[in-house]
Amino acid sequence: MEKTIAIIKGDGIGPEIVTEAMGVLDTVAAKFGHRFTYVDAPMGGNAVDAFGVPLPEESLANCLDADSVLLGAVGGPKWDDQPADKRPERGLLKLRGAMGLYTNVRPARMFPDLSASCPLRPDIAAKGIDLVVVRELIGGVYFGEHSTAEVDGEQKATDIMAYSEHEIRRVAHVAFQMAQKRRKRVTSIDKANVLDTSRLWRKTVTEVAKEYPDVELLHMYVDNAAMQIVRDPSQFDVIVTENLFGDILSDEASQITGSIGMIPSSSMGEGTRGLYEPIHGSAPDIAGQNKANPIGTILAAAMMLQYSFDMAAEADAIERAVDETLKAGIRCGDIWQEGCTLVGCREMGAEIRSRI
Ligand code: NAD
Repeated sequence: MEKTIAIIKGDGIGPEIVTEAMGVLDTVAAKFGHRFTYVDAPMGGNAVDAFGVPLPEESLANCLDADSVLLGAVGGPKWDDQPADKRPERGLLKLRGAMGLYTNVRPARMFPDLSASCPLRPDIAAKGIDLVVVRELIGGVYFGEHSTAEVDGEQKATDIMAYSEHEIRRVAHVAFQMAQKRRKRVTSIDKANVLDTSRLWRKTVTEVAKEYPDVELLHMYVDNAAMQIVRDPSQFDVIVTENLFGDILSDEASQITGSIGMIPSSSMGEGTRGLYEPIHGSAPDIAGQNKANPIGTILAAAMMLQYSFDMAAEADAIERAVDETLKAGIRCGDIWQEGCTLVGCREMGAEIRSRI
């Protein structure tokens, strides 16, 4: 297959980690007989410096024309005092909107060899963590009306949370289809005892479930879910939830697996094109020092192969190479433990490539 991938290296450690992920993609292409063509799409603080805007039109066009997009991370202290329209994150929000990315998928899997980094009790960690949070990304309270007004002599702020059936239905389909490829269980999370949006959420997800009789559907209130994720994460396969709840729960779920440097994420809309990135930021404190862990970005590239290009065997080859590298005791600084070999970003990339 021939695929074009838009590459956003970004700021801070972005260029280092994306370079390693591209190296892994090239190794996969050589082994499986594919050709990946890369098109640069500068975005973030570096684009503000070079072009005066965080997402130049040419970068956006390159992303929209590509078969998929791989992103490192954007931002850093250098651009913190920029006016709102020149902040690096603006570029990312604009890109998500322009690509129509309404679903964010974030797997939280604990690598058995990293169980020492898991902050949960050993008996809980021993049951394993392998869940996926499917979060609605462009609706709900984050995209509702926001206002602050003077009422009865004091400030009153209002944020409106709204959901339409079609916004719920399309993300529910993503969750059920993902569960069909996994352990066939969807837990839909809401606050239906209080919120109208949640009651519509629950009703709509229940209707969609009828199209997937092979998948079990459970409903859970968000406060209980926040507890259950730390009490027994092994009960979850696919979690589906709205934007605000998903923002919070996906951070909680990734934190319990150990390191922030290990977790990929994908954002999808209609069609197969997606935006793939690690969940962490640009880590300015370690940028340019060959200290960054590239595994989150490498696993994001694996997700791209699986979800955008339907290359399950190729994605599996990357995931297995990561597992084997960790089993061999090779570690970057963020996941290093006694008795392991400490390596830098470049060496970690090379170790993973050698095992594909
Ligand atoms: P961060 O995730 O960049 O870093 C938090 C801590 O984790 C730091 O100590 C960092 O060194 C470490 N870390 C992160 N990724 C690592 C990796 N791959 N390997 C080893 N250690 C790693 O979060 P922050 O410091 O709050 O944010 C830094 C900048 O990144 C900010 O400008 C923020 O706005 C931006 N940011 C961007 C994105 C994105 O591009 N999607 C996401 C979050 C934050």
